[in-house]
Amino acid sequence: MLAEFAPLALIAIAPTGVNKLQSLCVSSSGIPKDSANIWVPESCAEITGTQVYNTSLKKHVASLWQNQRAFIFCLATGAVVRLIAPLLENKSSDPAVIVIDEMGQFVISLCGGHQGGGDRLAQLIATQLGAMPILTGGSASLELPAVDMLGVPFGWCRGEGDWTAVSASVVRGEPVQVIQEAGSTIWRTARGVEKSSLCFEETVDATAEIWITCRSFTDKNSTHKPSTHKSSKQKSQFNLKDHNYTDQSQKSIITWYPKVLWVGIGCERGTPRKVIEAAIENTLQEYQLAKDAIAGIATIDIKSDEVGLVELCANNNLPLRTFRREILKHISVPNPSQIVAKEVGTPSVAEAAALLATFYPSHTDKEPSEEILNSSQGKTKGEMLIPKQIFRLEGQPGAVTVAVAQSEREYTGRKGKILLVGTGPGELQQITPAAQTAIASVDVVIGYGLYLDLISPLLRTGQIIEALPITKERQRAQRAIELANWGLIVAVVSSGDCGIYGMAGLVLEELKVCGWDGKTPGIEIFPGITALQAAASRVGTPLMHDFCAISLSDLLTPWEIIEKRLQAAAAADFVTALYNPKSKTRTKQLTIATNIFLQHRNPNTTVAVVRSAYREDEQITLTTLDKLLDVSVDMLTIVLIGNQNTRNYCEWMITPRGYIK
Ligand code: SAH
Repeated sequence: MLAEFAPLALIAIAPTGVNKLQSLCVSSSGIPKDSANIWVPESCAEITGTQVYNTSLKKHVASLWQNQRAFIFCLATGAVVRLIAPLLENKSSDPAVIVIDEMGQFVISLCGGHQGGGDRLAQLIATQLGAMPILTGGSASLELPAVDMLGVPFGWCRGEGDWTAVSASVVRGEPVQVIQEAGSTIWRTARGVEKSSLCFEETVDATAEIWITCRSFTDKNSTHKPSTHKSSKQKSQFNLKDHNYTDQSQKSIITWYPKVLWVGIGCERGTPRKVIEAAIENTLQEYQLAKDAIAGIATIDIKSDEVGLVELCANNNLPLRTFRREILKHISVPNPSQIVAKEVGTPSVAEAAALLATFYPSHTDKEPSEEILNSSQGKTKGEMLIPKQIFRLEGQPGAVTVAVAQSEREYTGRKGKILLVGTGPGELQQITPAAQTAIASVDVVIGYGLYLDLISPLLRTGQIIEALPITKERQRAQRAIELANWGLIVAVVSSGDCGIYGMAGLVLEELKVCGWDGKTPGIEIFPGITALQAAASRVGTPLMHDFCAISLSDLLTPWEIIEKRLQAAAAADFVTALYNPKSKTRTKQLTIATNIFLQHRNPNTTVAVVRSAYREDEQITLTTLDKLLDVSVDMLTIVLIGNQNTRNYCEWMITPRGYIK
């Protein structure tokens, strides 16, 4: 849980506090060693797993401040305020600071709430400890999206602007105009956006503007007006907005830069890094495109070891996409060259590579096959913004060709993950704390509408919630994989246990079909209380001896197989849980199953019929095998058939284990 906030410092001054902090660390898997230290004073030195600070706490916190992403204090809030006050700089660079009371009842997000991730960290810790998160940021308490967090899941870069003023406009509910020229619009479906005052249509009375763009600003200090593109096509597209904007220059503005620009490079062997760098910078400047919007560099595979290019990518943390000439030559480009074709076997390197990179902007993308390219007839998902420019730097060797394409979908630069989460039978209390934390931590939650409703208090503002109908399980799995491949952290929720007639198996099968390498996207599975456990706990201890589960749904399994298993379970005297016993259209299966069990077991065998266990409309019936078909049964019901020793005692179903003869 804490891994994404590492390195972090946990600080307590008394044993109870230290215990609280230790319990947090224990439940955090995947955290690198030494990147989450619990600091204690000399007086707590004997507690294992802690480190002692030898100076004053004030000096110690000051010495850690620059290198930590988060601080978690188990200390009085007043004391923490005094400790950190001299160290605070500004909200975009300050670490997250969290305060927990010694009893573990409250978790306060003290500062670094948005950009430092403090609010999210406080929520995760609170879920873990069963405590109340205290978030006092305007947007958090009003359940409005935080404008300085909107683009984080998609890897957008925060640009210029008056972030405080625009956030305040949103919190005050004033109309805030969104002008989006780049990147995907999925963020608009995030929880809270709908009820916010963000306007996507042209609004005359907006007090603030959010630009989501790849264009740079012409004058950072005065008007904050995003520049117009040099190409006439782009210009006409933006003319209207620019014009309106100039009329009302009093508005506060912020900019987000989605990473949509793929820079195609061709260069002479041995061109130094600084020449390539200058070529890119000059070109972007001339066309007034933002450097922060660069997704990556694209070129031909024979340049994958070009020292200047490799260095440039490493220094700027940019991916280097390389393509074979056989692939590059399929792409239709504005400026094909016969000379280049003769030399390297494709009429374009820079333009074709830039366009090709826009084709598959996600982390896991491989080079597209020739088959795909043929069917796309040379068209890509991107648009050529800057056709090739040739650049040389005086007094320096080498020459560079630069071309820039804009992709429809931004490069997130993140490795996505799918969390497969079981949400138990229905009541929030029956969801494991780990599953609750998992749900609260993700960017996207995908599931069947009914289950999402049941867990709605766990869903948080800013999350994208996708409810898909019950029959669309495959689409749900494919959607999760698509979003995770793109770099998002996605939870797929199933009721009960996700791996028992749930979505987990389908997601893994679907990944297998896609040729998954077992690692990307990452998978983590969070078990839940399955229906048979939930039902059993409501009626007694029917599962005290060997038992099995059989689903009576023959939609995916041939009925002969189900019947064979029913015969075997009945004959072997297993206590048997029947999942999916009956639907509106599937009615005969339960009759057949009952008759099979009657062939092997006494008609008096105890049977429990549990409908909607742990939900508001729960119904429980204890009956016997011969009367089972008189009880009303539907798809929200599970049937537990006892073995030959199971008894009904004072309305409790008891299967003996064998202790008492
Ligand atoms: N993954 C789920 C099972 C999904 S199959 C789990 O582990 O519980 C759906 C079937 O589960 C339903 O037809 C019903 O038989 C059973 N079921 C799920 N939730 C239930 C509940 N709260 N009460 C009774 N039966 C339930």
